Amino acid sequence: MTKRVAIIGAGPSGLAALRAFESARQKGAEIPEIVCFEKQDDWGGLWNYTWRTGLDEHGEPVHGSMYRFLWSNGPKECLEFADYSFEEHFGRPIPSYPPRAVLYDYITGRISKGGLRDYIRFRCPVRGVEWKSDLDKFRVTVEDLTKSHVYSELFDDVIVASGHFSVPNVPDFPGFQSFPGRILHAHDFRDANEFAGKDVLLVGSSYSAEDIGTQCYKYGAKSVTFSYRSRPMGFEWPEGFVEHPLLQKVEGKTAYFSDGATRDVDAIVLCTGYRHHFPFLPDDLRLQTNNRLYPLGLYKGVCWIANPRLFYLGMQDQYYTFNMFDAQAWYARDVIMGRITLPTSEAMTEDTLLWRRKEEAAANPYEEIDFQTEYVRDLIERTDYPAFDLDHVADAFKEWKHDKAEGILTYRDRSYVSALTGKRAPVHHTVWMEALDDSLEAFLKSGEPEG
Ligand SMILES: Cc1cc2nc3c(=O)[nH]c(=O)nc-3n(C[C@H](O)[C@H](O)[C@H](O)COP(=O)(O)OP(=O)(O)OC[C@H]3O[C@@H](n4cnc5c(N)ncnc54)[C@H](O)[C@@H]3O)c2cc1C
Repeated sequence: MTKRVAIIGAGPSGLAALRAFESARQKGAEIPEIVCFEKQDDWGGLWNYTWRTGLDEHGEPVHGSMYRFLWSNGPKECLEFADYSFEEHFGRPIPSYPPRAVLYDYITGRISKGGLRDYIRFRCPVRGVEWKSDLDKFRVTVEDLTKSHVYSELFDDVIVASGHFSVPNVPDFPGFQSFPGRILHAHDFRDANEFAGKDVLLVGSSYSAEDIGTQCYKYGAKSVTFSYRSRPMGFEWPEGFVEHPLLQKVEGKTAYFSDGATRDVDAIVLCTGYRHHFPFLPDDLRLQTNNRLYPLGLYKGVCWIANPRLFYLGMQDQYYTFNMFDAQAWYARDVIMGRITLPTSEAMTEDTLLWRRKEEAAANPYEEIDFQTEYVRDLIERTDYPAFDLDHVADAFKEWKHDKAEGILTYRDRSYVSALTGKRAPVHHTVWMEALDDSLEAFLKSGEPEG
């Protein structure tokens, strides 16, 4: 009998899984029956922008954490699908830092070829996954929000691709209760225009803080203050930006920092990270980890060692994104289709501990990039995912880090060489700080700068 495989989530990771099976089918293999459950009404995961925050029209927590005017925070040359270049999709080379709508078009463009949408049941959040040892299968329970109907089906394998940048980690600070301005988590940030003319405090020093801070500045915030817990971001900030160590409290609109500094602010954005949150999984199947490059419990970062019929995609902290999800999806597919035989549970655990030690030895971002490059290489070598020059991509990541250090407001004006086509991307028609229109049409139009 044909195997049945459930994929949970139709974001870039879930879509990578669909693409992996489709690729095997196109090469003549008999593939399992696939059902992809997606709680939103469209595909693309975080890249499927929504203005909504809080709960959606069905009372479901809104998945989206992306905002208007979000531009890729790394060069597109570092995330390019090895089997579908940007040039193939757009018909010509495009600049290195596209806005969200352009990346959405690229992700969904690849998957639109081949009728793969038919595999997806939209508006169908998975509510439960249970291992039925007597049946040797998983029982997956789903709510069809459109029909208001809860049902269960049996599957041989389950792929969890539900993302981990959606459920916010929200700390409290003394004085928040009576702060007279808006306090929000980055998950609910949607539009930098809201903060024009305001003094904004961002708690955190991650990508979210850095990007939301620069967005606010670009769209007219009066000042941007960052508060970091462990170390400052260390960029040479232009006038209007300042970094202080951890926020201690607020009194009225005055923020107090651990270096004794104070600052009056109008709004506070908590860029304090996200939780790996799987309310649909029981303890014995649930990955529990913080955001890091090598979570334990997953052989090759993918197979749940305690029950290797369960797979996770995209659960690592990410330098690599779309091409890493592909590498993982191809690997999971080959395990499911019996092309890869897993070693014993002990051997799998030992292997993960080896990788964990390498992860811990990575002392700075450059070594972390090397670590994740080796991880992706290890996966790609084991499947028929098209090989590409990973050393070139690693170098592009390092160039990007360097370009950011040189100018946090100008790095998006740089261009990089594609490992797939060997071509350097053209420079965008408008420098990023002046490119206020983030639509696909504005980005792709050639010629005169905006303004
Ligand atoms: C603000 C922000 C900016 C980012 N910018 C970049 C960038 O510039 N470049 C880059 O490469 N990466 C960026 N990322 C990283 C991002 O994680 C990846 O690009 C990518 O979206 C991860 O894909 P995913 O499929 O693993 O997860 P997601 O994109 O989160 O998709 C998960 C999907 O699972 C669905 N789902 C969740 N729970 C259930 C359930 N119970 N049942 C059914 N469906 C479910 C969700 O609705 C969603 O569609 C950014 C992330 C954030 C938060």
